[in-house]
Amino acid sequence: MLFSELGLSAELLRATNKQGYEEATPVQQQAIPMILEGHDVLAGAQTGTGKTAGFTLPLLQRLQQSEQNGRHRIRALILVPTRELAAQVSESVRTYGLYLPFKTTVIFGGVSINPQIAQLRRGVDIVVATPGRLLDHMTRGTIRLNEVETLVLDEADRMLDMGFIHDIRKIMKALPSSRQSLLFSATFSKEISQLANDLLNSPKQIQVARHNITAEQISQVVHPVDKNRKRELLSHMIGAGNWRQVLVFTRTKHLANRLSQQLERDGLSSAAIHGNKSQAARTRALADFKRGKTRVLVATDIAARGLDIELLPHVVNYELPNVAEDYVHRIGRTGRAGQDGQAVSLVCVDEKKLLADIERLLKRNIEKVVIPGYEPDESIKAVPIRNGGNRPPSRKRRAGGRPNPRPGANARARNSKSHSQGRRTRRAA
Ligand code: AMP
Repeated sequence: MLFSELGLSAELLRATNKQGYEEATPVQQQAIPMILEGHDVLAGAQTGTGKTAGFTLPLLQRLQQSEQNGRHRIRALILVPTRELAAQVSESVRTYGLYLPFKTTVIFGGVSINPQIAQLRRGVDIVVATPGRLLDHMTRGTIRLNEVETLVLDEADRMLDMGFIHDIRKIMKALPSSRQSLLFSATFSKEISQLANDLLNSPKQIQVARHNITAEQISQVVHPVDKNRKRELLSHMIGAGNWRQVLVFTRTKHLANRLSQQLERDGLSSAAIHGNKSQAARTRALADFKRGKTRVLVATDIAARGLDIELLPHVVNYELPNVAEDYVHRIGRTGRAGQDGQAVSLVCVDEKKLLADIERLLKRNIEKVVIPGYEPDESIKAVPIRNGGNRPPSRKRRAGGRPNPRPGANARARNSKSHSQGRRTRRAA
């Protein structure tokens, strides 16, 4: 179905045209007419399905249709779990609202509150916010939400995972009870149903295929490889494949930092993005990556949540996630909205169980391809991965990385292997 068939205004169609969109995605086809009609909506849709435009376009149209009074006051509130998502959603609102007179502001923590207060004072129509900082503004009395007509909860499951439920309930209390509410969530739990019950009024329901993002257009492959040779293999693949833009996932912030530094040393421009980095550093890293200044972005799961990078061709799982569902979120960064993408997982012996969990979730096996020269050493025994992320490999184990890089290195590697295996035996006992 074309955008032009969905009943959108000329200004909005002009904006979608400018983006080069013609066909509406399934979630857009369903959500746009329902929201335009004024219904509350409960939608099951993940990042990558086009959900942001699915709620932003009709929301803008409703603002356009309702009374404006010529003054800016907050009439739409979009709550999101992370700063990155807040920045991206507000960018989408600006993109789709390019030919409309509305002002949008974004509110999140980790940055000075004063510029946000100044913007709110100047008057805005649409606020995109993370719950914590929004509450901060409410407590200070620097924001008025009593004229909100539409509330959107985006990635509601993530907000609950991140412990925002009390904040969300406090915010709901400050909103007018007659309003339109839209709830988007990738997954549904008892808590989400409870929240939807309290928040939504006879909602229309939408469910777009849950694992649609792992569909045909994303090719998935596993390369079995020893843990201590992953970095070398990654550099080799990026260089040999001439990959210009690749997002790499690690389980820990520590490894994200270290891997990024090592890739730099291999001559690959790289940056790490994770929760310990300042907002300015995260925004800069993402901007550099998007405009091709940085070739490799190394990220942890939390930092990458909701990242919207158009046409990302390669995603690498340097380490598999502890939670199988995160695999789906990670590889959803590639092959977005009809583009082809490739998801590569470098899997060492320790991660076999995690891989089995993922394959169970996907209900299919992922193809395994051993890269010549990087065959796993069969003598290495698995060490179970403890929850909360693995530790980086010790220096001693890394010494065996390259085939005989320095005289004596093999002997050191052998020593370290028997040493670490000895430790494992003791731990197992
Ligand atoms: P989202 O699921 O909202 O994160 O959107 C995923 C990506 O799809 C974003 O990069 C959008 O710019 C893009 N997108 C959204 N709607 C369409 C569409 N109808 N056609 C092509 N791309 C789209």
